[in-house]
Amino acid sequence: MLVTNHVLAGAAIGALVKRPVPALALGVVSHVAMDVIPHWGLSHEDRQNGDPMRNPKFLRVAYRDGFAGLAAMGAAFGLARGRRMPVLAGMVGAALLDLDKPGKHFVGQSPFPARVDRFHAEIQIGREHAHKMGQELAVAAGLAALVAGLCWARPA
Ligand SMILES: [Zn+2]
Repeated sequence: MLVTNHVLAGAAIGALVKRPVPALALGVVSHVAMDVIPHWGLSHEDRQNGDPMRNPKFLRVAYRDGFAGLAAMGAAFGLARGRRMPVLAGMVGAALLDLDKPGKHFVGQSPFPARVDRFHAEIQIGREHAHKMGQELAVAAGLAALVAGLCWARPA
């Protein structure tokens, strides 16, 4: 799933649970839960053609998604007055597992042990579909509205 959607889900979790440590842990759980839902990915043919990390179609989406995810982090942090720490912790927890790809791309290695990355890859096998970008964007819009609503709601 797009990291932007993971970030927004993490922000919503942080705004709801209001405590940083549970928000961080639930953020990680939300990543796994969202990655087992069928989501956007390269087509089967594109994946047969070699490493996705060298595929221009994948990289174009990954770059845009990475910047959108960072922008979402900044916006949610800015909106979450009174709940900034749990919102930040939720976003960090939710985005964490996706550091494998920028790690490999920019630094040459993932920050995680191989078995963590293998788990993260395996839960997505057969669940990535090239036609699901519309769904990703719809999820992003829904989550963004939810985060905005939660952050604008009076702090309890
Ligand atoms: Zn993931």
